Amino acid sequence: MRILIANRGEIARRIIRTAHRLGHETVAVFAAPDRDAPFVSEASMALAIGPAELAGSYLSMERILDAAARTSATAIHPGYGFLSENASFARSVVDAGLIWIGPHADAVQRMGSKIEGRRLAVAAGVPIIAGFDGSQDPVDLAAAAERIGFPVLVKAAAGGGGKGIRIVRDAGAFAAALGEAMSEADRSFGDRAMIVERYIQRPRHVEVQVVGDRHGNVIHLGTRECSVQRRYQKLLEEAPAPNLPDATRNGLCVAAAELARTMHYDSAGTVEFIVDDKTGDYFFLEMNTRLQVEHPVTELVTGLDLVEMMIRSAMGEPLQLSQEDVTLRGHAIEVRINAEDPAADFMPQTGTITQLVVPPDVRWESGVIEGSVVSPHYDAMLAKLIVFGVDRPAALTNLRRALDGLLVGGVVTNSGFHRWLVDQDPLVAGRITTRFLDETVVPTALDVAAAATVAAECWRVHARSVTDTGPWTALPDFSTTPHRLRRPTHLRHHSGEVISIDAAATGGALRSSVVSLVRGRSVAVNVDGYSHTFRVLDRTEAWTPTADARDARAGSIVSPFPSLVTEVRVAVGDEVHAGDVVVVIEAMKMLHSLPAAGRGTVTAVRVAVGDQVQTNQVLVTFEEHTA
Ligand code: ADP
Ligand code: ADP
Ligand code: MG
Repeated sequence: MRILIANRGEIARRIIRTAHRLGHETVAVFAAPDRDAPFVSEASMALAIGPAELAGSYLSMERILDAAARTSATAIHPGYGFLSENASFARSVVDAGLIWIGPHADAVQRMGSKIEGRRLAVAAGVPIIAGFDGSQDPVDLAAAAERIGFPVLVKAAAGGGGKGIRIVRDAGAFAAALGEAMSEADRSFGDRAMIVERYIQRPRHVEVQVVGDRHGNVIHLGTRECSVQRRYQKLLEEAPAPNLPDATRNGLCVAAAELARTMHYDSAGTVEFIVDDKTGDYFFLEMNTRLQVEHPVTELVTGLDLVEMMIRSAMGEPLQLSQEDVTLRGHAIEVRINAEDPAADFMPQTGTITQLVVPPDVRWESGVIEGSVVSPHYDAMLAKLIVFGVDRPAALTNLRRALDGLLVGGVVTNSGFHRWLVDQDPLVAGRITTRFLDETVVPTALDVAAAATVAAECWRVHARSVTDTGPWTALPDFSTTPHRLRRPTHLRHHSGEVISIDAAATGGALRSSVVSLVRGRSVAVNVDGYSHTFRVLDRTEAWTPTADARDARAGSIVSPFPSLVTEVRVAVGDEVHAGDVVVVIEAMKMLHSLPAAGRGTVTAVRVAVGDQVQTNQVLVTFEEHTA
């Protein structure tokens, strides 16, 4: 077959790998910013389909089908996100005489709505959460919330990726939350329909992987735990889900397979459940009719290749194994490495990846390599780091080691957050609920000084032996340099802070094992799982503060990354207080509120709604009130 991949980034590479192993050809289609991306060069052939804007590229059915015709592709794999759960796309692919590598379009259509999904679950005897999926009249929805009892969740019926979901704690907050969820749903899915559900108090997200074929066979591949979430989005996933009573585990798996069977499900899919950690009761959430981001953890514990199973099923082959043949071995954990800064409320980050060191003995699924540009156009997920262990404690140990050995320079990621997370008691105990990150303060203070000391030492070693370009891992016996440089080393941290390390002050900073990599005058070091990137300043470099530092002093709001202004909430002369939202911007499909840092009077508004702005561009200035 010649398989066109209607997707980008890590999942496109993942699909290409299996397709080539099976002897198929692949076609990459790409938008302009992805021209140099690894998935484009790895496919058998590649075709540009349009500009950065999704509507003209990865979301354009017309352009993708046209690309398929021009390259004589015979099949399309949609990956996840984008058009993967779009039933009319699935139909168009089949109507064009191509093979759709996914479930039949009816399954995609019916599970595309959480309303219909709930009906199907009930019909298959799967418990659903007490809720309301009837009239869209706000009065009826509010009455339903009263009846169900607060707190409730309002959720977009067409939802996905955590968009269009709001928790409502009392009747007074209902109307506002409903409005927000509706407008977010409208923006994301072009559909405002809402359902209301009882909010499960100690919720765990547990899901079951299913696979079917076109001959009526369906099997399940066990559970995954995805309870570590932020804003209803998954951050860490594992297989199998730990600490489930046997009755719950079996119930979930049987229910998922039964639901898939009633729909004649014929590809890979995931049935998501909420499990009440107190009672072990479980309830159907939704079914995702596609390959899931976190599918590798299931692959590691089953030894199966889910992309291969999807391709074979699409070609009409029967499943090659029965339920009894499925055996689970060991434990796997995945963390999503996102270009977002935990210290800045997880704001998405952009830039160029100047260093990349992947630790040994992990499965690394990424869309980027050294030199890749992380643009604001797409999802912030850069890579997935997946580890395996003979049991859960072994997997956790491997994950700690892996995060200590990972280095991503040039773009801030959440790797340090994950390193912190793997030492938290509820995670270690396997007792995380989706509330965990709401109830816990994530430490955000970085030890820049310590990192700078390490970086200075790496730089000096590097300067002495330029032939050794690393990566250097685990230098436990590193000792004080005998050739002390006379001058201190001046380093500028990626946050803008400039630190000078006295030549005499270091020595032994690398005593604990540290991964570092020097590229030109850029030094990246991993301290506590965080990748710090420093620029080594030379004597001729001006000692001007960075734009960030300057603007912070001037009392202004700057855009932290390239973005689109979606809201300006102030005018010249307005008085603002610390925390007041001044401007709202959009990047990477997310809205970000930029608050005032202190009290002041607005002196200039330099942007308007709809403006495209650059990193560090000043949006609004203030005169600060010091009293
Ligand atoms: P998974 O359970 O596989 O992690 P997610 O719900 O996190 O699935 O979504 C996977 C990816 O697809 C994410 O990048 C998410 O933003 C995107 N996504 C999922 N559903 C939609 C949708 N309906 N519209 C747009 N993007 C979506
Ligand atoms: P999406 O289509 O955006 O993935 P889901 O229905 O799967 O929407 O919900 C996303 C997440 O929201 C779940 O993983 C879970 O953490 C949380 N959630 C959804 N419904 C409930 C509920 N009724 N009670 C508690 N948490 C819920
Ligand atoms: Mg979901």
